[in-house]
Amino acid sequence: MMSAEQRAQGRRVRERLLDLMFVRGRIEDVRPAPGRMRWIRVGGVPGLDWTPGQQVRVHVADITSARTWVSGAVRNALRTYSVWEYDASAGVLELCVMDHGEGGPGARWARAARPGQEVVFGRPEGAFGLRPGAAFHLFAGEETASVPFGAMLRATPPDAAVHGVIEVSGPADRLPLPRAGELTWRHRGGASAASSATLVAAVRDLDLPAEPGIAYVAGEARTVQAVSAHLVGDRGWPRGSVLVKPFWTPGKRGME
Ligand SMILES: Cc1cc2nc3c(=O)[nH]c(=O)nc-3n(C[C@H](O)[C@H](O)[C@H](O)COP(=O)(O)OP(=O)(O)OC[C@H]3O[C@@H](n4cnc5c(N)ncnc54)[C@H](O)[C@@H]3O)c2cc1C
Repeated sequence: MMSAEQRAQGRRVRERLLDLMFVRGRIEDVRPAPGRMRWIRVGGVPGLDWTPGQQVRVHVADITSARTWVSGAVRNALRTYSVWEYDASAGVLELCVMDHGEGGPGARWARAARPGQEVVFGRPEGAFGLRPGAAFHLFAGEETASVPFGAMLRATPPDAAVHGVIEVSGPADRLPLPRAGELTWRHRGGASAASSATLVAAVRDLDLPAEPGIAYVAGEARTVQAVSAHLVGDRGWPRGSVLVKPFWTPGKRGME
């Protein structure tokens, strides 16, 4: 039988291990975002090394709870979310999560998120980010892609040329993106964002400079592939000028 002191010591060791391996913050605020999205503001996480476009891997189940391990939920407990905004000195990071109809562990976590709750996540990661010096920046994606696009557009120098298409279900689903007036918005109505012909057609219709820029293409995996195939195959862009980031696809649980 463990004494109270031994249990407390065990807890302190677990907490130290968690702090070594992960970042731990606390939800400060949960606000409705346009459409079916939700902003989740996490405080107490100063000094992270983050560049706009990067994401964090969130433990959407409580990994400190024995039940998470015993039930096996731990195997499906990580979901990746782009960072909408991060203030390193205030230690505040904001995510924006889609409440998609199928309701996996990520969507359920975001739905249940409440101020005061602890959030455990990995340090910011990923190579999806602005390539400075590009002739122009081209953004293409749907609602979930507009989360990293928000951070990236905020970081784009004012004199850098920006083009792009954001596909959303309807006008109420538009995130407040910086430089929104320079982007083309497309509404797909009730159609699925998976294998979306709407987004590819809208990118095809863009009047782009003759020379390639850098493209940032994110969202549903098959749509992302189709946009990339158009840029490389039809417009002759070098493959290396098209950065793709599949976020989700029908039938697949978590993409990373
Ligand atoms: C690098 C990266 C960044 C990401 N950034 C964001 C972000 O900023 N915001 C965000 O909301 N998501 C983002 N995602 C997607 C996120 O990681 C989850 O995949 C998503 O939240 C679904 O998780 P889930 O547990 O709810 O569903 P899962 O169990 O993973 O998936 C179950 C099923 O739900 C359906 N589904 C999943 N996502 C969607 C969707 N968006 N629309 C319609 N159907 C869907 C699919 O059919 C899927 O098979 C990102 C993914 C990656 C890889």
